[in-house]
Amino acid sequence: SSDEEGGEEYLFKIVIIGDSAVGKSNLLSRYARNEFNAHSKATIGVEFQTQSMEIEGKDVKAQIWDTAGQERFRAVTSAYYRGAVGALVVYDISRRSTFESVARWLDELKTHSDTTVARMLVGNKCDLDNMRAVSVEEGKALAETQGLFFMETSALDSTNVKTAFEMVIRDIYANVS
Ligand code: GDP
Ligand code: MG
Repeated sequence: SSDEEGGEEYLFKIVIIGDSAVGKSNLLSRYARNEFNAHSKATIGVEFQTQSMEIEGKDVKAQIWDTAGQERFRAVTSAYYRGAVGALVVYDISRRSTFESVARWLDELKTHSDTTVARMLVGNKCDLDNMRAVSVEEGKALAETQGLFFMETSALDSTNVKTAFEMVIRDIYANVS
């Protein structure tokens, strides 16, 4: 943190990881710009977006990184993880394989991080309840075992998107303030 105009300012790097097409880019665009794209291809070029919130009168900025499609080639670079203090690990509740990949993403996160990272397991696309392939209980259980927060979200209808990001940001803040 640094002093600016009498108040303190915080900047936290948060990464979003998970298999291709689970909705990472749309979670970010929903949170940062309140936008959803039904036909989003791998977002090329967008590295991160910054979103501010106020906690205890302090200006807290989250710099949230998107893989920009790198994960399709299993080549999310160490630069992506460098300095991250928060992570959203995302799967798609309608595709079981994406849930089974979570362990691998957690390993990768652990390998690349040198500090404590506030981690949230996110079961996205909860609007697709009729196509559900992973139960809420399974998500919760995995999160508990691994010591993560857990939330089901929908970038499509906005369910829990803000809440998920803000829980991570508040947890990081609580650990540094
Ligand atoms: P990424 O590869 O993880 O960044 O995934 P994208 O954000 O590009 O989303 C992949 C596809 O899933 C796109 O067609 C999105 O429109 C769709 N999608 C993303 N989030 C949701 C959601 O919450 N619900 C539904 N039904 N579709 C979603
Ligand atoms: Mg993407």
